[in-house]
Amino acid sequence: MLAPFAWIAGIVAPLRCAACDALGSSLCESCSAACSNHGPVTRAAKSGAPFTVALGPFGGALARAVRHIKFGGRRDVARTLGGLLAGYIAFGADVIVPIPLHPARLRERGFNQAALVADAVAATLGIPIETEAIQRINATAPQSRLPLAARRANVRGAFGAGPRASEVFGRRVLVIDDVVTTGSTLTSCADSLYACGAEEVIGAALAIRI
Ligand SMILES: [Zn+2]
Repeated sequence: MLAPFAWIAGIVAPLRCAACDALGSSLCESCSAACSNHGPVTRAAKSGAPFTVALGPFGGALARAVRHIKFGGRRDVARTLGGLLAGYIAFGADVIVPIPLHPARLRERGFNQAALVADAVAATLGIPIETEAIQRINATAPQSRLPLAARRANVRGAFGAGPRASEVFGRRVLVIDDVVTTGSTLTSCADSLYACGAEEVIGAALAIRI
């Protein structure tokens, strides 16, 4: 049975599939299959970039659904896709860290899309989430607006130890983002987590641009 608020929200704004707009659910059955039947996609660890696993390549239904999380803050969609992503995470992790947004951008947007996904993965796998182990120290220009070559320079040194950095010391950390493009943001986060004493850093995302 739905909680009263979800029931009321359902009357005011019925759930629509984030990929095809069909009425009835966050992600309909066929779009849910379309989002998960090309994966998992993995990227090997390379020159500082952590091994990364994703639900699938960025495109089609998955890309449309991810945009609803990133630009619309659709927690219900994050929950559905995050649950599917959790099914691909076969390795153990001690703690989950979503890629932090700069506080100024968080205030402007009202949510961190990576944290919405991380919440869903953490709840499915029963792994604690830690949002203050590392923090953004530079308000970098949004990666999606930059040419490829500028992206790595944009995020270099963008993260530093947060007030709860000790929570990752000696631990296996799963870093979560919504979409991985060049991997430079994940790499920069991994650098910072290793500097905080993390034993190992692994990445996961809903989609990888390939
Ligand atoms: Zn659909």
